[in-house]
Amino acid sequence: MEVRCQVCGSVKPIHESHRDFKAIAHNPLYPFICENCATKIQLEMQDQTGLRKFPPNPLAEPGSTVKKRPSDK
Ligand SMILES: [Zn+2]
Repeated sequence: MEVRCQVCGSVKPIHESHRDFKAIAHNPLYPFICENCATKIQLEMQDQTGLRKFPPNPLAEPGSTVKKRPSDK
């Protein structure tokens, strides 16, 4: 059976042993993603989760921007 990758559009032959074979056989609209794109997406997701973990910025401590000058009362 041949399936088209939803991401890059390339047609790939898949064997019965493929993990998505049954799902695709039952549902032709099953979103198949080829190995190349699956790997790429996985890496991109890892990059995105890595970017969300910003290291704490020492210059952005709470209160540092509202520091009162000695003259303020
Ligand atoms: Zn692909």
